[in-house]
Amino acid sequence: MQTTLTPKIRQSRHAPAIESILRKCVHCGFCNATCPTYQLRGDELDGPRGRIYQMKQYFEGAAANVEMLKHLDRCLTCRACETTCPSGVQYSHLLEIGKEMIEVDLPRSRFDRLRRAAIVRFINSGWMFSAAIRIGQSLAWMMPAGLRSSIPTRQVVLTRHQVKHSRKVLMLAGCVQPTLAPNTNIGASNLLGKLGLEVIELEQNLCCGAAAMHTSEPEYALRQVKQLIDQWWPHIEAGVEAIVVTATGCGVSVRDYARLLADDPDYAEKGKMVTSLYRDLIEVVEAHSDAIEVPDATARRVAVHTPCTMQHGLGLNHRVERLLANVGYQICRIEDAHLCCGSAGTYSMLQPAISTQLKQNKIDALTVDQPDVIATANIGCQLQLAQGNRTPVVHWIELI
Ligand code: SF4
Ligand code: SF4
Repeated sequence: MQTTLTPKIRQSRHAPAIESILRKCVHCGFCNATCPTYQLRGDELDGPRGRIYQMKQYFEGAAANVEMLKHLDRCLTCRACETTCPSGVQYSHLLEIGKEMIEVDLPRSRFDRLRRAAIVRFINSGWMFSAAIRIGQSLAWMMPAGLRSSIPTRQVVLTRHQVKHSRKVLMLAGCVQPTLAPNTNIGASNLLGKLGLEVIELEQNLCCGAAAMHTSEPEYALRQVKQLIDQWWPHIEAGVEAIVVTATGCGVSVRDYARLLADDPDYAEKGKMVTSLYRDLIEVVEAHSDAIEVPDATARRVAVHTPCTMQHGLGLNHRVERLLANVGYQICRIEDAHLCCGSAGTYSMLQPAISTQLKQNKIDALTVDQPDVIATANIGCQLQLAQGNRTPVVHWIELI
C-alpha cells in the first residue's frame, strides 16, 4: 500500500514501523476470513483489513473519531490475521501504535478511563483480588445461576514438593492465576522438580504488564515490567536456565520485553536477556515426554483449546495435543481451532456481548466429539470456557 504520512506522524518515533507495516499490506482481504470479529459482525470495519485502512487514514491526516476507536477496540488482538496474512503484516504492532496515537488526539471519556484503570488495579491488587474471589466462592450458592457460573470453582490445592537441584529456572506466578487456578503452577513446579529442575517463584505475585497494555495504559505496563525485571534480576545474574511461563497470555508479553524496552537505556539489555530466557512450559516439558507416565491417560478423551497467544502469538500450535497424545491421551476432533474463545485478556470485561458469543461458539466447537475434559494453556481461556460449560476445563499440566 502506498502511504502519505502527515508531517506529525513522520516525525514520531513510530514512523518507520508504521511505514513498513502499511507498505506490506496489499489489501487482499485474506485475513478477514479468519478474523473472529469480522465473522461475527460481517462488517469490513470490524475486520483486520478495515482496521488497517482506518489507521492508515488517520496516519494520513483524517481526524481521530469515536467510530474509529470503537472498531479498533472491538479487536481481540488474537493475531489470527497475522497467521493468515501472506505478506507478513504485523497487524498487532500497528494496532498498538495506532491506538496509542489516536488516544492522544481523542482521549477516552472519564468513565472509560476509570473503568479500565479499576479493572487493572483490581486484578493486580493481590490480597484484595484474592479476598473478593474467596468471598464470591463462599457465597456462590445463593447467587442466581448466571452470576454463579461466572465465579471460578475453588480448586483443591495440591501439595507443593519443594526440591533442590543445581539446575534452576524462574517461574512467573502471574497476578490472578495463583488465586484462580493455583494447581497450574504447583503442578508445573512439582513436575519440573521430578525432571531435575528447581523452580524459583517470587514471593510477590507481580503482573507481566499484559493487563495494563490491554487497557491502554502503556506507561503503567512498563512500570510493572521493570518492577518484575528488578525482582528477577538477582536470579538471572545467578544463572537460571530459563524463565518458565505457564500462561500463554503472559508468555507473549514476557517474550516481547526486548522490543518493549529497546529504547530504554537502563533496561534494553535486561529486556533482551529476559526475552532470550523466556520459555513456555510446553517447550520445557515436551523435551522430557518419554520420562512422563500418566497411568489412566488412555481412558480419557481430551479436546485441546490452543489459546490465540499460543498459536498465533508464540507459534506453538499443536504442541499440547502432541504431548498429551505421546503420554497416552485420546485427542478429540474440534472445529474452528483458529478462532478465539473471546477471553482475550480484559476483553471479556470490556466487550461482554462479543465475548459471550465467541465463548458459546468455542464451547460448541470444542465439544462436537464429546470429550471428557477440555485442556488449554492460558488462565483467561480456562476461566472463560468453564463458564456455563458442563465439560471440565483444565490447564494441560493438570493432566500430566
Ligand atoms: S493484512 Fe495481509 S491478508 Fe490482510 S489485507 Fe493486508 S496483506 Fe492481505
Ligand atoms: S487480531 Fe484477531 S480480532 Fe483483531 S483484526 Fe486480527 S483476527 Fe481480527
